Amino acid sequence: MRQYALADTAVALGWAPRDVEVIDKDLGLSGTSAAHRAGFRELMSRVCLGEVGAVIGLEISRLARSNADLARLAEMARLTGTLLIDSDGVYDLADFNDWLVLGLKSTMSQAELHIMAGRLQAAGKAAAERGELRAPLPVGLVYDEDGATVLDPDAEVQAAVGDVFACFAAAGSAYGVVAAFAGRKFPQRAYGGAWAGQLRWAPLTRHRVLQVLKNPAYAGAYVHGRHVTRKKVDADGNVRTVTGEVPRAQWQVLIKDHHPGYITWEDYLAAEARLAANHTAGGARPVREGTALCQGIIICGGCGAPMAANYHGDDRASYECHSHRDGKKTSGCRSITADAVDDAVAGVLLQALTPEQVALALAAADEVTSAHQRTGRAAGLAAERARYEADRAERAFTQVEPENRLAARTLEARWEAKLAALADAEQALAAAQAALPPLPDRASLEKLAADLPALRHAPTTTARDRKRLLRTLIAGITMLPESGRAKARIGIRWHTGAADQIIIDRPRPSRIPAPAPAPATQLIRQLGPVTTSEDLAAILNQHGYRTGAGRPFDTKAVQWIRHAYHIPGPSPCRDAEISVNEAAQRLGCSPGVVCYWIATGQLTARRSTGGRLAISWTDATETGCKERIASSGHLNPAARRTRPRQRH
Ligand SMILES: [Zn+2]
Repeated sequence: MRQYALADTAVALGWAPRDVEVIDKDLGLSGTSAAHRAGFRELMSRVCLGEVGAVIGLEISRLARSNADLARLAEMARLTGTLLIDSDGVYDLADFNDWLVLGLKSTMSQAELHIMAGRLQAAGKAAAERGELRAPLPVGLVYDEDGATVLDPDAEVQAAVGDVFACFAAAGSAYGVVAAFAGRKFPQRAYGGAWAGQLRWAPLTRHRVLQVLKNPAYAGAYVHGRHVTRKKVDADGNVRTVTGEVPRAQWQVLIKDHHPGYITWEDYLAAEARLAANHTAGGARPVREGTALCQGIIICGGCGAPMAANYHGDDRASYECHSHRDGKKTSGCRSITADAVDDAVAGVLLQALTPEQVALALAAADEVTSAHQRTGRAAGLAAERARYEADRAERAFTQVEPENRLAARTLEARWEAKLAALADAEQALAAAQAALPPLPDRASLEKLAADLPALRHAPTTTARDRKRLLRTLIAGITMLPESGRAKARIGIRWHTGAADQIIIDRPRPSRIPAPAPAPATQLIRQLGPVTTSEDLAAILNQHGYRTGAGRPFDTKAVQWIRHAYHIPGPSPCRDAEISVNEAAQRLGCSPGVVCYWIATGQLTARRSTGGRLAISWTDATETGCKERIASSGHLNPAARRTRPRQRH
């Protein structure tokens, strides 16, 4: 009101009311920078144009918080003869004394800001050092009535946060946690806005998982100064504030065991190390999905560079040194089939595993059991929450006065919605309980763990599991230079510091089947177009021919030669049958149309040996098809044009 009353001051000073303009676009905006303040910018431009007689404000020195902005305004006002007016008086900046006083006031306003901020921050810092400065808590932790930090009493929230840590311990990556939460939501506490203080449930993202894992509050620690804000000048000259993370060693305040947490401080450090090990951009080589066992830990003994695991279709892999791309290839650089190295290394690993290590496997089994329970528990808690909300909506509905129809209608609709949500949650709970596979009993687990080779080859063991098993004991594999091309020398570095060397036979390269002897090919050329591949294989074997690899012929070998020499097979069609392509040619349409007619039952066809379609074909069939084409607007544009357009 005081600010709007300034318009009356202007009139009192002699300006006509229609000449007074109120600029209030910047209300509620910080005056730190002029960048986002459209009102201040408009004022500046009109002062520059000389359109303004006087600028009136409560306190001119606070029109802009930044000295630079105010100095520019004062300079322009001086050049254009614009007056600046506030409660203290009228400044004509062409007058040296007025200009000096306004300059001093602006400097003092900035100093005042600094002192005030300093006092506030000092008090805040002192409170932080005692662990008493309150900051918004991450979801899962709340302040109790006495202001102490405690676990959120809501069991569903507690379970969700706890499960993030448990899933991370089991899966080992943030994306692993996201996958484990598929179909399940994660709570988020809203700060500010319409939902302030309320819980929102949303799908869990990798970003959220990282926020949770990196937040020391969950480990019961009080931390101040984990983030720092810096000022940055962007290309346009605008000043922006950016927030950055501070490394743990530089946190201003760290008080361990400050409040109850979800994990211990040791767990927190372990998670931090594990996240760093997953950070490939930083040079880490985490285990991947592929079957090549030594991926990520195998290096070339010739040049010292990591070897890449390359996959060549059908899951065959090889370890390859890529130094030649950088022109660093040495005479000792080799590539090798992954299977050869993997089998040898796995053999050494299994020999080294003692019964004590079996305990590790049993610990893993316990982890499976608890993951099993977690799945069911989450659905159970969600159902319980839905039941509570439905009850509450029912109570609200029954308590409303019957005369208050408007409120009753809304409350009834809400109750119904909650009941529907409850039904959904109970259904999800039943589904979750039904989907849980039965757990194997402890005795069979012990038997399985004692037989590690079988466990390693079990179809349920994933490639990642095998690699983790390998990495628990082995730190690195090196393909050592070996002069003979028939042998490969593999160095194994154990985590204990010990090193082993093994020598294996290099597998012979077998990329392309050797060409079959000419007489066999000749025979396939002659008989191929009229004989099936099965019959051909039998005939070739009767003649005593062998494939290029020296094996007897089978259907696959014959098909390979057909493919290599472009020899067609016999037509699959009997009398009165034609192929799809032939039908399409006769009708002058695309083969796709013919296939569509077969799929929709408008044409009869059977699958012959080799899976090709043979269509029973008579003159009547042909006439029918042609009529269909002639009447179809889609296939025959002429038909489309003559037919009247149908209106719906
Ligand atoms: Zn190399």
